Amino acid sequence: MDDAGMPKPEMEKHSRIFVAGHRGLVGSAICRHLLRLGYTNLIARTRGELDLTNQSAVDAFFAAEKPEYVFLAAAKVGGILANSNYPVEFLRDNLTIEINVIEAAYRNGVKKLECLGSSCIYPKLAPQPIKEEYLLTGPLEPTNEWYAIAKIAGIKLAQAYWRQYGFRAISLMPTNVYGPGDNFDLQSSHVLPALIRKAHEARLKHSREMVVWGSGEPRREFLYVDDMAEAAVFLMLHYDSADIINVGVGEDHSIRELAELVCRVVGYQGRLVFDASKPDGMPRKLLDIARLRNIGWRPRINLEEGIARAYQWFLEPEQGAPRSMAI
Ligand code: GDP
Repeated sequence: MDDAGMPKPEMEKHSRIFVAGHRGLVGSAICRHLLRLGYTNLIARTRGELDLTNQSAVDAFFAAEKPEYVFLAAAKVGGILANSNYPVEFLRDNLTIEINVIEAAYRNGVKKLECLGSSCIYPKLAPQPIKEEYLLTGPLEPTNEWYAIAKIAGIKLAQAYWRQYGFRAISLMPTNVYGPGDNFDLQSSHVLPALIRKAHEARLKHSREMVVWGSGEPRREFLYVDDMAEAAVFLMLHYDSADIINVGVGEDHSIRELAELVCRVVGYQGRLVFDASKPDGMPRKLLDIARLRNIGWRPRINLEEGIARAYQWFLEPEQGAPRSMAI
């Protein structure tokens, strides 16, 4: 029961579940996990079928399909360079998607909605590991503030709907997620897929060195996408609060350590060269995951194993490719 004496909704195997962003890294993993668990009534639309930045299209979709549960995994995402180069898309598109989907979900009687944010919403110099309550306690990292502002607005919007209308909208803050289905484009990707690609190509070309952006000193935490999907479903079932909740693994690595590990997995033995003309971004981004641990969830896949799986997918994307999954 909740505060108002209402029974809490239970996501059932036949519930109508809309996964927004089902072709993305996280959305596709959530779909795979739901199907594996026996959920039979998944609803998904490609961007061509439903443009989530188009308010009337989103309204019409919700009115027709009447989903009961929504995973909001659709977003304009990208690495440190893409974020700096496309500030309008990162801010505008993410804000618009959040507003359209949350409003339509509320109006159409969705029982529970889960928003996916990001660890980059926290202040640049937040104490580490980062607790949920550090949100809005200091200035943001400038290289990703556009995306961060949009995601913070999304959290606040979800909290506002819960407070004003009692609409159950929970918000997860995942750390850097990687794995099969990732973006391996060197200009727009995050660091881990970029390093896999660079190490692979350097090995094939017998290059003597491989370039890593920045100083190699920043520290990041990496969560394998299937673990992320498990946490997303677990929290939809078991977390019932407007307070944000971090999703991470509880340990981090310097970019240099990460590059060395990737090279080992990929089998590249050349030298690492650090390109100081590229930005470092946040010096460290390690989430405090005590809140998540306390409700009983832990990741399963360690970093080396996850990199090996991601590399395998990079080599053979058709093998179990999440993008071609039919729902
Ligand atoms: P961030 O976590 O928002 O800073 O985004 P990224 O995953 O793009 O970058 C994380 C860190 O990895 C930054 O310090 C980057 O400079 C560094 N990095 C090193 N090599 C690369 C690369 O090839 N691509 C990307 N995207 N980042 C790299």
